[in-house]
Amino acid sequence: MNFIEQIIEEDIQNGKNGAKVQTRFPPEPNGYLHIGHAKSICINFGMAEKYHGLCNLRFDDTNPVKEDTEYVDSIREDIHWLGFQWAAEFYASDYFDQLYLWAEQLINEGLAYVDDQTQEEISKGRGVPTAPGVESPYRNRSVEENLDLFRRMRAGEFPDGSRVLRAKIDMASPNMHFRDPIMYRILHASHHRTGDKWCIYPMYDFAHGQSDSIEGITHSICTLEFEVHRPLYDWFCEALRIHHPQQIEFARLNMTYTIMSKRKLLQLVKEHYVNGWDDPRMPTICGLRRRGYTPASIRNFAETVGVAKRDNIIDVSLLEFCAREDLNKTAIRTMAVLDPVKLIIDNYPDGQVEEMTAINNPEDPEAGTRTVPFSKELWIERADFRENADKKFYRLSIDREVRLKYAYIIKCTHIVKDDDGNITEIHCTYDPNTKSGMPDSNRKVKATIHWASVAHSKKAEVRLFDRLFNVEDPDNCDEGKTFLDNLNPNSLVVTEAWVEPALTLEKAMAIKHFQFERLGYFYADPDSTEGKLVFNKTVSLKQ
Ligand code: ATP
Ligand code: MG
Repeated sequence: MNFIEQIIEEDIQNGKNGAKVQTRFPPEPNGYLHIGHAKSICINFGMAEKYHGLCNLRFDDTNPVKEDTEYVDSIREDIHWLGFQWAAEFYASDYFDQLYLWAEQLINEGLAYVDDQTQEEISKGRGVPTAPGVESPYRNRSVEENLDLFRRMRAGEFPDGSRVLRAKIDMASPNMHFRDPIMYRILHASHHRTGDKWCIYPMYDFAHGQSDSIEGITHSICTLEFEVHRPLYDWFCEALRIHHPQQIEFARLNMTYTIMSKRKLLQLVKEHYVNGWDDPRMPTICGLRRRGYTPASIRNFAETVGVAKRDNIIDVSLLEFCAREDLNKTAIRTMAVLDPVKLIIDNYPDGQVEEMTAINNPEDPEAGTRTVPFSKELWIERADFRENADKKFYRLSIDREVRLKYAYIIKCTHIVKDDDGNITEIHCTYDPNTKSGMPDSNRKVKATIHWASVAHSKKAEVRLFDRLFNVEDPDNCDEGKTFLDNLNPNSLVVTEAWVEPALTLEKAMAIKHFQFERLGYFYADPDSTEGKLVFNKTVSLKQ
């Protein structure tokens, strides 16, 4: 049981909130969701599920300049894809009227004032945590003057940045968030939902807790950086005498070789360092989806990472491990040759084609079998042959035997090279009695290799990915450098492969997740066409 579950179970036992659990996932629609958000989603929806409660989706849309409906739609899609369904969908902007009334209430009670200082003056007045700040010269305006000014702010009489509404709390507090935090700012900007209705917008701290309160949230789960905001969250709920949810903070997910800031991910997209938010190298949910991650693998990852109270960094290989674990159970096997060299079986009859029976998924008998055409000329992986093989190399070499998967045992006789010394043909003979089910099929050979029939196979495009960043902590850079300097220039390699002829576009897009035998897991990319399938390498078979 993690510490959040402990708190919730105690609250249920004590009958707090009528023993109900209500959570929410509150993204700001200013970018696509990433793997860190997936963790937050799993926690919020997971807690609601576990304790028979509800979880809302609330778009925290208080910053009109950066928000967009494109992001709203993508967030909805990604949460659904992860396998969660929200009880209700809300927007912080749904509460703008109520928040405005609450702001007037605080003004009326002498707990808020309009400040005419500039942003710089306000920052300066706040000072530093170790010494008390300086009060604003406008701090002691009368209620009437404050109300009048605040209403005129709303009416659009003042330009952006000329005035703010501040809570009147404590300019000497050691918690900087208590030093008269800003509640409202003037911003003449169109909002993705409220249009031009407002030209003042509430700040996060004046919107978040109240939105939680309105929705009857019981446990407001957020990341550690909001711990210092909690006293203010509590202060607003108390001052307004409204339902008071409990804010609980957990450590955000950090991962090696990964950037998790939406601002930086947006920069990668806008400046074309990647091919969009769903580039398979991105840590976004849509990027991981296109890479071939499954919802189950991401949920298992979130579960395995657990909920911590202290910041830590998770090795990205754990995410890859979770992908393998799930895909091994579910991915349909297929044979594909990525780096082909021609193998010719000299004693195999010309023009003969045999349909070999192949197993779709050894982990799942219900997945059944398929047939793969076999003929005299095959493609095999260049790396499966070595001219000068030492004892540790078990695969094909001159005078050595290997099994061709689902087919025969072959023995290499000789090779042909071009003028540059590259191997162009590997010649061998096969033993007709070694096909599965035949008398000699159990004969021991040290290796089994995969293949593709030259005359039958289809050419496909394969996209191979490496880490997007060269270093474990891309944000940690020398002076004058940025995370962009840590980008891995070789993170994408596009190559070709020979794949089984039965893989039609329709089939590939329906199956989606494949294990290319002996090579790794691959995902049928939406760029695929009838003429050319495209596969993204999700992850290798082993670390
Ligand atoms: P960013 O800093 O990347 O813009 P954010 O925290 O501003 O992210 P929000 O849209 O506000 O993004 O996040 C929605 C929810 O997801 C919040 O509750 C936030 O705490 C949580 N969240 C964001 N990033 C992570 C992360 N890396 N690990 C866990 N939870 C996260
Ligand atoms: Mg945020």
